[in-house]
Amino acid sequence: MPAQIIDGKAIASKKRMEIANEVQKLKESGITPGLAVILVGDNHASRTYVSSKQKSCNELGMYSLLIEYPEHVTEEELLSKIDELNNDDRIHGILVQLPIPKHIDEIKVIESISPEKDVDGFHPINIGRMMTGQDAFLPCTPYGVMVLLEETGINITGKHVVVVGRSNIVGKPSGQLFLNKNATVTYCHSKTKDLVSHTKQADILVAAVGKANFIKAEHVKEGAVVIDVGINRNEAGKLCGDVAFEEVSQVAGYITPVPKGVGPMTITMLMYNTLKSAKKVLNSK
Ligand code: NDP
Repeated sequence: MPAQIIDGKAIASKKRMEIANEVQKLKESGITPGLAVILVGDNHASRTYVSSKQKSCNELGMYSLLIEYPEHVTEEELLSKIDELNNDDRIHGILVQLPIPKHIDEIKVIESISPEKDVDGFHPINIGRMMTGQDAFLPCTPYGVMVLLEETGINITGKHVVVVGRSNIVGKPSGQLFLNKNATVTYCHSKTKDLVSHTKQADILVAAVGKANFIKAEHVKEGAVVIDVGINRNEAGKLCGDVAFEEVSQVAGYITPVPKGVGPMTITMLMYNTLKSAKKVLNSK
């Protein structure tokens, strides 16, 4: 029997309705959640992501501020703007769209964002809080993966989760969130020997590799849950994930498609984190 498809678009829509309702309530208490997005240079993909984030803010009734800099902006100028936003009461979330030009120190930029406004969840304080199981802004894509599973009713406790990919923004935090939910976690990466022997044991397989159709049916255990984080283009220029969808869906129990799988959840969780930050301001009054 072919795998059940996890409909990320539908789950994201449901979550967005919940967020929009909460934004409305917060506005009645005098607080409009606000997100500031900083875009440096003219990367086409970055510009598309930024517009989607702004569009989502508008749809959910949030305030959005876009700050654009040319490619040659200095690190000092960027840090000074972040400092200003850290102290701006209209802004509850700040994100710098990555990648940024090489002459600017990315780590320094991330660490200059107040952890209380770090809605991307990339600041080491939030990463540390996440690792120690404390309240934190969770990175949006891994958080979105967890919500997809929760909404689908998939139990995580005791499951063997294999994460292929160990980037700081997707692979590593995904594994950590599964560990926090009592899974047994294996990380695989480009130096892993005999990848199939690991992936084949997964009850839940997360692919965050960045290579079109990399995970084949032979990598997947019968009935496994397969989460495809990848966003790639195939040879024909068509959007596709890291998982060879057609063949893997003949083996897996559940699978996320690309598009309309993990993708719609990422911005949704960004909106959720911005709302959460604004709610904290209300509760501290
Ligand atoms: P990175 O390039 O930072 O990381 C890729 C990871 O894959 C690395 O850890 C790398 O290992 C590993 N890898 C590469 N080749 C192999 C291999 N042959 N076998 C096993 N592991 C391998 O990518 P990201 O984590 O940033 O992104 C991954 C994918 O997710 C991309 O397609 C990206 O576009 C997508 N993405 C999607 C988002 C969404 O909203 N859905 C959000 C963010 C990303 P090593 O560390 O050893 O180099």
